[in-house]
Amino acid sequence: MKNVCFFTLLLMTFSVNSQKKTPKIIIGIVIDQMCYDYLYRFQNNFSENGFKKLMSRGSHLKDMQYNYIPTYTGPGHASIYTGTTPKNHGIIANAWIEESSKSIVNCVGDPSVEGIQSSQLYGKSSPHRLNTTTITDQLKDKHKESKVISISIKDRGAILPGGFKSDGSYWFDYGNGQFITSSYYKTEMPKWVKKFNAKNNALSYAQVWNPLLVKNSYSSEDASPYEKVINGKSAAVFPYDIKKLCDLSQSFEPFTMSPFANNLLTDLAITALKKEKLGQDEFPDMLCISYSSTDIAGHVFGPDSKEIEDMYYRLDIELGRLLNHLEKSFGQDGFVLFLTADHGVATVPQKRVDEGLSGGYVFIDKVVPRPPQKK
Ligand SMILES: [Zn+2]
Repeated sequence: MKNVCFFTLLLMTFSVNSQKKTPKIIIGIVIDQMCYDYLYRFQNNFSENGFKKLMSRGSHLKDMQYNYIPTYTGPGHASIYTGTTPKNHGIIANAWIEESSKSIVNCVGDPSVEGIQSSQLYGKSSPHRLNTTTITDQLKDKHKESKVISISIKDRGAILPGGFKSDGSYWFDYGNGQFITSSYYKTEMPKWVKKFNAKNNALSYAQVWNPLLVKNSYSSEDASPYEKVINGKSAAVFPYDIKKLCDLSQSFEPFTMSPFANNLLTDLAITALKKEKLGQDEFPDMLCISYSSTDIAGHVFGPDSKEIEDMYYRLDIELGRLLNHLEKSFGQDGFVLFLTADHGVATVPQKRVDEGLSGGYVFIDKVVPRPPQKK
Protein backbone atom coordinates (compact mmCIF):
# COMPACT_ATOMS: atom_id res chain seq x y z
CA MET A 1 0.00 0.00 0.00
CA LYS A 2 1.23 3.45 -0.84
CA ASN A 3 1.49 6.16 1.73
CA VAL A 4 -2.05 7.47 1.97
CA CYS A 5 -1.70 9.70 5.02
CA PHE A 6 -2.61 12.85 3.15
CA PHE A 7 -6.10 13.68 4.22
CA THR A 8 -7.25 14.12 7.71
CA LEU A 9 -10.91 14.15 8.31
CA LEU A 10 -11.78 14.98 11.84
CA LEU A 11 -10.64 15.65 15.32
CA MET A 12 -12.67 14.11 18.10
CA THR A 13 -12.64 15.21 21.66
CA PHE A 14 -14.26 13.51 24.58
CA SER A 15 -14.46 14.54 28.15
CA VAL A 16 -15.50 11.89 30.61
CA ASN A 17 -16.73 14.28 33.25
CA SER A 18 -18.43 17.59 33.44
CA GLN A 19 -17.28 18.60 36.90
CA LYS A 20 -16.02 22.07 37.71
CA LYS A 21 -13.31 21.30 40.26
CA THR A 22 -9.69 20.73 39.25
CA PRO A 23 -9.23 17.16 38.08
CA LYS A 24 -6.60 14.97 39.74
CA ILE A 25 -5.35 13.85 36.39
CA ILE A 26 -5.79 14.55 32.69
CA ILE A 27 -5.42 11.66 30.26
CA GLY A 28 -4.65 12.49 26.64
CA ILE A 29 -5.13 9.65 24.17
CA VAL A 30 -4.08 9.89 20.53
CA ILE A 31 -5.03 7.04 18.21
CA ASP A 32 -2.69 7.19 15.29
CA GLN A 33 -4.50 7.26 11.92
CA MET A 34 -7.98 6.90 13.40
CA CYS A 35 -10.68 8.27 11.07
CA TYR A 36 -13.77 9.68 12.76
CA ASP A 37 -16.10 7.43 10.81
CA TYR A 38 -14.66 4.31 12.52
CA LEU A 39 -16.75 5.31 15.54
CA TYR A 40 -19.86 4.62 13.50
CA ARG A 41 -18.58 1.98 11.10
CA PHE A 42 -17.48 -0.32 13.92
CA GLN A 43 -20.05 0.75 16.50
CA ASN A 44 -22.19 -2.39 16.39
CA ASN A 45 -19.32 -4.49 17.64
CA PHE A 46 -17.91 -2.06 20.20
CA SER A 47 -18.42 -2.90 23.86
CA GLU A 48 -20.27 -0.57 26.23
CA ASN A 49 -17.04 0.25 28.08
CA GLY A 50 -14.70 1.83 25.50
CA PHE A 51 -15.46 4.16 22.58
CA LYS A 52 -19.22 3.99 23.17
CA LYS A 53 -18.84 5.06 26.80
CA LEU A 54 -16.76 8.07 25.74
CA MET A 55 -19.32 8.96 23.08
CA SER A 56 -22.29 8.69 25.39
CA ARG A 57 -20.79 10.25 28.52
CA GLY A 58 -18.45 12.81 26.96
CA SER A 59 -18.56 15.78 24.63
CA HIS A 60 -18.11 14.70 21.08
CA LEU A 61 -16.90 17.21 18.50
CA LYS A 62 -17.84 15.87 15.11
CA ASP A 63 -17.11 18.65 12.69
CA MET A 64 -13.50 19.65 13.18
CA GLN A 65 -10.95 20.07 10.45
CA TYR A 66 -7.21 20.37 10.27
CA ASN A 67 -5.91 23.72 9.11
CA TYR A 68 -2.51 22.61 7.90
CA ILE A 69 -0.75 20.10 5.69
CA PRO A 70 0.83 17.60 5.78
CA THR A 71 -1.24 15.76 8.37
CA TYR A 72 1.47 13.36 9.46
CA THR A 73 2.20 11.91 12.88
CA GLY A 74 4.81 14.52 13.94
CA PRO A 75 2.80 17.64 13.00
CA GLY A 76 -0.37 15.97 14.36
CA HIS A 77 0.98 15.27 17.83
CA ALA A 78 2.74 18.65 17.99
CA SER A 79 -0.42 20.51 16.94
CA ILE A 80 -2.65 18.67 19.43
CA TYR A 81 -0.34 19.38 22.35
CA THR A 82 0.89 22.88 21.46
CA GLY A 83 -2.47 24.13 20.22
CA THR A 84 -0.91 25.77 17.21
CA THR A 85 0.08 24.96 13.63
CA PRO A 86 3.38 23.71 12.14
CA LYS A 87 4.33 27.22 11.07
CA ASN A 88 4.59 28.11 14.75
CA HIS A 89 5.53 24.88 16.52
CA GLY A 90 8.09 23.97 13.87
CA ILE A 91 7.20 20.29 13.37
CA ILE A 92 6.42 20.66 9.70
CA ALA A 93 6.63 16.95 8.79
CA ASN A 94 7.97 13.68 10.18
CA ALA A 95 11.30 14.47 8.49
CA TRP A 96 12.55 17.33 6.35
CA ILE A 97 15.67 18.79 4.80
CA GLU A 98 17.32 21.11 7.27
CA GLU A 99 18.57 24.22 5.57
CA SER A 100 21.72 24.67 7.63
CA SER A 101 23.07 21.14 7.19
CA LYS A 102 21.31 20.31 3.89
CA SER A 103 20.57 16.92 5.38
CA ILE A 104 17.34 15.08 6.15
CA VAL A 105 16.44 15.36 9.80
CA ASN A 106 13.82 13.48 11.79
CA CYS A 107 11.31 15.61 13.72
CA VAL A 108 12.52 14.18 17.03
CA GLY A 109 16.01 13.02 16.02
CA ASP A 110 18.74 14.52 18.19
CA PRO A 111 22.36 13.46 17.64
CA SER A 112 23.42 15.33 20.79
CA VAL A 113 21.67 12.88 23.13
CA GLU A 114 22.10 9.19 23.88
CA GLY A 115 19.50 6.45 24.17
CA ILE A 116 18.85 5.00 27.62
CA GLN A 117 18.46 1.22 27.56
CA SER A 118 18.17 1.45 23.79
CA SER A 119 19.90 -0.01 20.79
CA GLN A 120 21.91 2.51 18.73
CA LEU A 121 19.18 3.39 16.26
CA TYR A 122 16.19 4.34 18.34
CA GLY A 123 17.27 6.32 21.38
CA LYS A 124 18.84 9.52 20.03
CA SER A 125 15.70 11.60 20.28
CA SER A 126 14.35 14.67 22.06
CA PRO A 127 11.83 17.51 21.56
CA HIS A 128 14.58 19.98 20.58
CA ARG A 129 12.95 20.84 17.22
CA LEU A 130 9.73 22.03 18.85
CA ASN A 131 9.56 25.82 18.76
CA THR A 132 6.73 26.30 21.26
CA THR A 133 5.70 24.86 24.58
CA THR A 134 3.07 22.19 24.98
CA ILE A 135 0.02 22.03 27.25
CA THR A 136 2.07 19.61 29.36
CA ASP A 137 4.85 22.22 29.70
CA GLN A 138 2.27 24.83 30.62
CA LEU A 139 0.87 22.56 33.31
CA LYS A 140 4.34 22.18 34.82
CA ASP A 141 4.90 25.93 34.58
CA LYS A 142 1.75 26.46 36.59
CA HIS A 143 2.47 23.77 39.22
CA LYS A 144 5.99 22.51 39.48
CA GLU A 145 4.62 19.60 41.54
CA SER A 146 2.47 18.40 38.62
CA LYS A 147 3.82 15.33 36.89
CA VAL A 148 3.77 14.57 33.18
CA ILE A 149 4.35 11.10 31.75
CA SER A 150 4.13 10.40 28.05
CA ILE A 151 4.19 6.99 26.34
CA SER A 152 3.86 5.55 22.86
CA ILE A 153 5.23 2.87 20.57
CA LYS A 154 6.54 5.62 18.22
CA ASP A 155 9.23 7.99 19.46
CA ARG A 156 7.46 11.09 18.13
CA GLY A 157 4.15 9.88 19.64
CA ALA A 158 5.72 10.06 23.11
CA ILE A 159 8.21 12.90 22.76
CA LEU A 160 6.08 15.67 21.23
CA PRO A 161 3.13 15.33 23.69
CA GLY A 162 5.53 15.23 26.66
CA GLY A 163 7.10 18.53 25.61
CA PHE A 164 10.29 19.88 27.16
CA LYS A 165 9.54 19.26 30.80
CA SER A 166 8.12 15.75 30.85
CA ASP A 167 8.97 13.67 33.91
CA GLY A 168 9.34 10.68 31.67
CA SER A 169 8.75 10.07 27.95
CA TYR A 170 9.05 6.44 26.88
CA TRP A 171 8.84 4.85 23.46
CA PHE A 172 9.46 1.42 21.97
CA ASP A 173 12.77 0.18 20.64
CA TYR A 174 12.14 -1.91 17.51
CA GLY A 175 15.57 -3.47 18.01
CA ASN A 176 15.39 -4.72 21.60
CA GLY A 177 11.62 -4.80 22.16
CA GLN A 178 11.74 -2.59 25.27
CA PHE A 179 10.52 0.83 26.28
CA ILE A 180 13.37 3.31 26.17
CA THR A 181 14.09 6.99 26.73
CA SER A 182 17.03 9.31 26.09
CA SER A 183 19.63 11.27 28.03
CA TYR A 184 17.57 14.39 27.29
CA TYR A 185 15.20 13.22 30.04
CA LYS A 186 17.14 10.89 32.32
CA THR A 187 20.60 9.73 33.25
CA GLU A 188 19.21 6.36 34.19
CA MET A 189 16.03 4.46 33.47
CA PRO A 190 13.63 4.59 36.45
CA LYS A 191 13.42 1.31 38.34
CA TRP A 192 9.75 0.79 37.56
CA VAL A 193 10.34 1.01 33.79
CA LYS A 194 13.30 -1.38 34.07
CA LYS A 195 11.12 -3.77 36.00
CA PHE A 196 8.27 -3.40 33.51
CA ASN A 197 10.63 -4.18 30.64
CA ALA A 198 12.04 -7.21 32.40
CA LYS A 199 8.60 -8.57 33.27
CA ASN A 200 6.70 -7.62 30.13
CA ASN A 201 8.78 -8.85 27.27
CA ALA A 202 7.10 -7.85 24.00
CA LEU A 203 7.33 -11.41 22.71
CA SER A 204 5.31 -12.65 25.66
CA TYR A 205 2.44 -10.47 24.33
CA ALA A 206 2.94 -11.64 20.75
CA GLN A 207 0.30 -14.28 20.12
CA VAL A 208 -1.19 -15.69 16.97
CA TRP A 209 -3.47 -12.91 15.71
CA ASN A 210 -6.84 -14.39 14.76
CA PRO A 211 -10.09 -12.45 14.28
CA LEU A 212 -11.67 -11.72 17.65
CA LEU A 213 -15.27 -12.13 16.49
CA VAL A 214 -17.18 -14.66 14.40
CA LYS A 215 -16.86 -14.29 10.65
CA ASN A 216 -20.15 -12.59 9.84
CA SER A 217 -19.52 -9.83 12.42
CA TYR A 218 -17.08 -8.06 10.09
CA SER A 219 -17.95 -5.58 7.38
CA SER A 220 -14.52 -5.91 5.71
CA GLU A 221 -13.21 -8.77 3.60
CA ASP A 222 -10.03 -10.51 4.73
CA ALA A 223 -8.36 -11.06 1.36
CA SER A 224 -8.02 -7.89 -0.72
CA PRO A 225 -5.64 -6.82 -3.48
CA TYR A 226 -5.09 -3.49 -1.73
CA GLU A 227 -3.20 -4.88 1.24
CA LYS A 228 0.52 -5.40 1.56
CA VAL A 229 1.70 -8.97 2.00
CA ILE A 230 4.28 -8.93 4.76
CA ASN A 231 7.45 -11.01 4.80
CA GLY A 232 6.74 -14.54 5.95
CA LYS A 233 3.17 -14.56 4.62
CA SER A 234 1.90 -15.59 1.20
CA ALA A 235 -1.28 -13.51 1.46
CA ALA A 236 -2.61 -10.68 3.64
CA VAL A 237 -5.01 -12.93 5.52
CA PHE A 238 -5.48 -14.17 9.08
CA PRO A 239 -3.93 -15.76 11.08
CA TYR A 240 -0.72 -13.84 11.78
CA ASP A 241 1.75 -15.69 13.96
CA ILE A 242 3.35 -12.52 15.33
CA LYS A 243 6.12 -14.20 17.30
CA LYS A 244 7.11 -16.28 14.28
CA LEU A 245 7.07 -13.18 12.05
CA CYS A 246 9.30 -11.34 14.55
CA ASP A 247 11.74 -14.27 14.60
CA LEU A 248 11.78 -14.32 10.83
CA SER A 249 12.42 -10.59 10.41
CA GLN A 250 14.81 -10.44 13.37
CA SER A 251 12.95 -7.35 14.54
CA PHE A 252 9.94 -6.33 16.58
CA GLU A 253 8.32 -4.57 13.64
CA PRO A 254 5.65 -7.27 13.10
CA PHE A 255 4.79 -6.91 16.78
CA THR A 256 4.27 -3.16 16.44
CA MET A 257 1.70 -3.66 13.66
CA SER A 258 -0.28 -6.09 15.80
CA PRO A 259 -3.01 -5.38 18.38
CA PHE A 260 -0.76 -6.92 21.03
CA ALA A 261 1.41 -3.78 21.03
CA ASN A 262 -1.73 -1.85 22.10
CA ASN A 263 -2.11 -4.30 24.99
CA LEU A 264 1.52 -3.74 26.01
CA LEU A 265 1.09 0.04 25.88
CA THR A 266 -2.11 -0.10 27.97
CA ASP A 267 -0.27 -2.16 30.57
CA LEU A 268 2.55 0.42 30.59
CA ALA A 269 -0.06 3.20 31.06
CA ILE A 270 -1.66 1.43 34.03
CA THR A 271 1.77 0.69 35.53
CA ALA A 272 2.83 4.36 35.08
CA LEU A 273 -0.33 5.53 36.87
CA LYS A 274 0.52 3.32 39.83
CA LYS A 275 4.30 3.64 40.00
CA GLU A 276 4.48 7.38 39.34
CA LYS A 277 1.59 7.87 41.78
CA LEU A 278 -0.23 10.00 39.23
CA GLY A 279 -3.35 11.82 40.37
CA GLN A 280 -2.59 11.28 44.06
CA ASP A 281 -2.27 14.87 45.29
CA GLU A 282 -3.88 18.27 44.74
CA PHE A 283 -1.62 19.12 41.79
CA PRO A 284 -3.09 17.78 38.55
CA ASP A 285 -0.91 15.36 36.59
CA MET A 286 -1.06 14.44 32.95
CA LEU A 287 -0.61 11.07 31.25
CA CYS A 288 -0.27 11.14 27.45
CA ILE A 289 -0.81 7.87 25.61
CA SER A 290 -0.39 7.51 21.87
CA TYR A 291 -1.47 4.22 20.30
CA SER A 292 0.73 3.77 17.21
CA SER A 293 -0.15 0.28 16.01
CA THR A 294 -3.35 1.50 14.37
CA ASP A 295 -1.17 3.53 11.99
CA ILE A 296 1.55 0.94 11.49
CA ALA A 297 -1.10 -1.67 10.61
CA GLY A 298 -3.03 0.95 8.63
CA HIS A 299 -0.06 1.46 6.31
CA VAL A 300 0.19 -2.29 5.72
CA PHE A 301 -3.44 -3.30 5.40
CA GLY A 302 -5.35 -0.10 4.58
CA PRO A 303 -8.45 1.37 6.20
CA ASP A 304 -10.88 -1.06 4.56
CA SER A 305 -9.16 -4.22 5.78
CA LYS A 306 -10.45 -6.83 8.18
CA GLU A 307 -7.16 -6.48 10.06
CA ILE A 308 -7.84 -2.81 10.88
CA GLU A 309 -11.45 -3.55 11.77
CA ASP A 310 -10.32 -6.30 14.13
CA MET A 311 -7.64 -4.08 15.66
CA TYR A 312 -10.29 -1.48 16.60
CA TYR A 313 -12.52 -4.10 18.27
CA ARG A 314 -9.52 -5.16 20.33
CA LEU A 315 -8.46 -1.57 21.06
CA ASP A 316 -12.00 -0.84 22.25
CA ILE A 317 -11.50 -3.53 24.91
CA GLU A 318 -8.16 -1.96 25.91
CA LEU A 319 -9.80 1.46 26.28
CA GLY A 320 -12.44 -0.16 28.46
CA ARG A 321 -9.72 -1.71 30.61
CA LEU A 322 -7.99 1.68 30.97
CA LEU A 323 -11.26 3.53 31.74
CA ASN A 324 -12.15 0.91 34.32
CA HIS A 325 -8.79 1.43 36.03
CA LEU A 326 -9.21 5.23 35.96
CA GLU A 327 -12.73 5.08 37.36
CA LYS A 328 -11.67 2.74 40.14
CA SER A 329 -8.64 4.89 41.01
CA PHE A 330 -10.10 8.39 40.76
CA GLY A 331 -13.86 7.96 40.69
CA GLN A 332 -16.02 8.75 37.66
CA ASP A 333 -15.58 12.51 38.15
CA GLY A 334 -11.97 12.56 39.27
CA PHE A 335 -10.31 12.79 35.88
CA VAL A 336 -10.57 14.43 32.48
CA LEU A 337 -9.84 12.44 29.35
CA PHE A 338 -9.64 13.43 25.73
CA LEU A 339 -9.27 11.16 22.75
CA THR A 340 -8.31 12.32 19.30
CA ALA A 341 -6.29 11.35 16.25
CA ASP A 342 -3.14 12.89 14.83
CA HIS A 343 -4.55 12.38 11.31
CA GLY A 344 -6.85 10.07 9.40
CA VAL A 345 -6.28 8.09 6.23
CA ALA A 346 -7.67 8.02 2.71
CA THR A 347 -9.00 4.95 0.90
CA VAL A 348 -6.22 3.21 -1.04
CA PRO A 349 -6.22 5.27 -4.28
CA GLN A 350 -6.05 2.22 -6.54
CA LYS A 351 -9.27 0.90 -5.00
CA ARG A 352 -11.04 4.11 -5.95
CA VAL A 353 -9.59 3.95 -9.46
CA ASP A 354 -10.71 0.32 -9.85
CA GLU A 355 -14.19 1.22 -8.66
CA GLY A 356 -14.45 4.05 -11.19
CA LEU A 357 -14.39 6.74 -8.50
CA SER A 358 -12.33 9.92 -8.47
CA GLY A 359 -8.82 9.61 -7.10
CA GLY A 360 -5.51 8.18 -8.10
CA TYR A 361 -1.81 8.70 -7.74
CA VAL A 362 0.37 11.69 -8.51
CA PHE A 363 3.83 10.75 -9.70
CA ILE A 364 6.07 13.61 -8.80
CA ASP A 365 8.51 12.94 -11.67
CA LYS A 366 5.71 13.57 -14.15
CA VAL A 367 4.58 16.79 -12.48
CA VAL A 368 7.97 18.30 -11.74
CA PRO A 369 10.58 17.43 -14.36
CA ARG A 370 13.86 16.34 -12.82
CA PRO A 371 16.73 18.78 -13.33
CA PRO A 372 19.24 17.61 -15.93
CA GLN A 373 21.92 15.34 -14.47
CA LYS A 374 25.42 16.77 -14.23
CA LYS A 375 27.88 14.94 -16.43
ZN1 LIG B 1 0.25 9.26 12.70
